[in-house]
Amino acid sequence: MKYALVTGGSRGIGRAICLKLAAMQYPVLINYKSNHDAANETRLLVEAIGGKAELMPFDTSNAKEADEAVSLWQEKHEGDSVAVLVNNAGIRMDSMMVFMQNEQWHQVIDTTLNGFFYVTRRLLKDMLTSRWGRIINVASLSGLKGLPGQTNYSAAKAALIGASKALAQEVGPRKVTVNVIAPGFIETDMTRDLDEKQLKQMIPAGRFGRPEEVAALAGFLASDEAAYITGEVISVNGGLYT
Ligand code: NAP
Repeated sequence: MKYALVTGGSRGIGRAICLKLAAMQYPVLINYKSNHDAANETRLLVEAIGGKAELMPFDTSNAKEADEAVSLWQEKHEGDSVAVLVNNAGIRMDSMMVFMQNEQWHQVIDTTLNGFFYVTRRLLKDMLTSRWGRIINVASLSGLKGLPGQTNYSAAKAALIGASKALAQEVGPRKVTVNVIAPGFIETDMTRDLDEKQLKQMIPAGRFGRPEEVAALAGFLASDEAAYITGEVISVNGGLYT
């Protein structure tokens, strides 16, 4: 069986992507860090639309944890592989750089960028041998434009974009595509503390996006129709920045 793994699949954008891929008949592996109830809720939502889902908790910033979780799954699933990988897990720890602590810098970069490396490296081999794979990385407007108060987050997301473009060229000959989705402001827990009323005045579409609107693009990039799209960064931001 060909599975889809979504890191940070318990909530927000990741949850919507789990549901989209499940609707495309992929059994889904829901990764999360600690929010077991939310992950379980995603699993139930997938099952409610007739899909299959398994929970796969691990901290993407921890190489050993990520490795062990993938190994354990592979041992239990002989003959199965992950054909669609969505590197979506990410956190914000905003601060002006002058006040930023080492921990704020490292945790944000470790979760997004190192997480992408630890998980993707492990799953690439199967995609390369089966000559089909989809890697979808969730970056951000912040990684394209840079946002004040987010030097850590902008650095992590911009680096993810660079790594994706390099990897796309490495694995293109084996029919594995690597693309990046760069959301603008999307209604999730991550943006709950932002002043939506004020921020939406800057957005041509006049509103925050919905997780499902990001998931729709992830579904397309995971499909056969997107076979000739690789190394791209596609924004889902209501026209906020292009
Ligand atoms: P969210 O609602 O805060 O959810 C974050 C998800 O990431 C949760 O599933 C969380 O798991 C998981 N996660 C966090 N740290 C993790 C770790 N170390 N290991 C494994 N999983 C971890 O965030 P979101 O808004 O859906 O964001 C999803 C992605 O989109 C992120 O990469 C974010 O940077 C990006 N993005 C979001 C927006 C936006 O406006 N919302 C805009 C641009 C980009 P737990 O439930 O266990 O905590």
